[in-house]
Amino acid sequence: MIFKELGIIEPILKALSAEGYTQPTPIQEKSIPILMRRKDLIGCAQTGTGKTAAFAIPILQHLYLDPERNKGQRKIKALIVTPTRELAIQISESFTTYGKFTGIKNTVIFGGVKQGGQTDALRRGVDVLVATPGRLLDLMNQGFITLKDVEYFVLDEADHMLDMGFIHDIRKIIEKLPVKRQSLFFSATMPGEIIDLSRKIVGNAEKVTIAPEQTTAEKVEQSVYFVSKSGKPKLLVYLLQMKPAESTLVFSRTKHGADKIVKFLAKAGIPANAIHGNKSQNIRQKALGEFKSGQTTILVATDIAARGIDVEELSYVINYDLPNIPETYIHRIGRTGRASASGIAMSFCDTEERPYLRDIQKLIDQKIPIVAEHPFVDDGTEVITKAPPRPQRPRSQARSATSGAKTGANGKKAWSNAYSRGRR
Ligand code: AMP
Repeated sequence: MIFKELGIIEPILKALSAEGYTQPTPIQEKSIPILMRRKDLIGCAQTGTGKTAAFAIPILQHLYLDPERNKGQRKIKALIVTPTRELAIQISESFTTYGKFTGIKNTVIFGGVKQGGQTDALRRGVDVLVATPGRLLDLMNQGFITLKDVEYFVLDEADHMLDMGFIHDIRKIIEKLPVKRQSLFFSATMPGEIIDLSRKIVGNAEKVTIAPEQTTAEKVEQSVYFVSKSGKPKLLVYLLQMKPAESTLVFSRTKHGADKIVKFLAKAGIPANAIHGNKSQNIRQKALGEFKSGQTTILVATDIAARGIDVEELSYVINYDLPNIPETYIHRIGRTGRASASGIAMSFCDTEERPYLRDIQKLIDQKIPIVAEHPFVDDGTEVITKAPPRPQRPRSQARSATSGAKTGANGKKAWSNAYSRGRR
């Protein structure tokens, strides 16, 4: 399948070709025809599948073909609401890229910065507005934005909107939208709460599901390093010194942890930047800019700050901490191995994180290969000192890698043996 077969107009085809895109990704192939027919859509897909273009292309096309276009002052005809500033910026950049030969104007608004630049852009007039919920409501309340002309509404990353507590904001935004509109609803996961929310937004929608297994987890070369908590800094330094200076995103579960990582890397002579919610928006943007341009090759991020990071050819993702929510693991490794390229993801796992590893493996339905040979393999001593007492298990299970129960001097061997024999 090529883009032309999807009925895409010439100015957009030209932009796609300039980006080097030849074939639509699965979500684009499935969603674009539905959206071209102006149907509502529920897309169950995560970032990294090409979902931005899947919704941006049809919206740009509808706007371009709108007979009202070029008549009078521009009105906000399309609204995209997304949870984070990084994601919002990235979506806006995608509209600019795919729409560069259409004359359609977009702008992006998000909180944490002064509003002057954003309100100036709004005053000049835009066709497409990309926004985070808080700033959108704020500028609506101040009278800078009206949603009365919106014909296309996209709610992006609905599950993260809920996680981040935006549900009330979303409800308020929906109330202000015209009833007659095309609505698109995207979420990586579809628990009951999300399905309820989708019912409030979309009408008689078609559903497109792109299973994570088909995308990230299969494409990315993954490995896990068993290491004690105290061995993690040494292992990180060791790996970063060993591998070529290519872009590497290191995930930390906490903001404080991210800062600590940057500090010990600096001590080891490895420059790195951190982005997380405690850093000002300007510093985050600067760190991201330096990383994107290749000026710095190592970025340490928390999950929220990293959402929407889209760096071409991101070579490595290192999970310094394993996430306790298995879906987060997929989001993280999805930073590498984007739509076409394959990537490498390495995860550190201490004894307390072994249950997380088990949950992740269950979700991706894969066993992540273990790197048994590295200088900081966990010898299991932390299990003795830190792990809470565990119920007695049969001997065969007690040696299994995710139970974390085997201890002692040759615990190292037991872990790797257990895995190489293919047990969980
Ligand atoms: P998204 O899921 O929208 O964040 O997109 C993931 C990445 O895939 C982005 O870097 C896009 O630029 C890229 N991309 C989107 N569509 C295509 C395509 N058809 N071919 C190649 N790359 C694409």
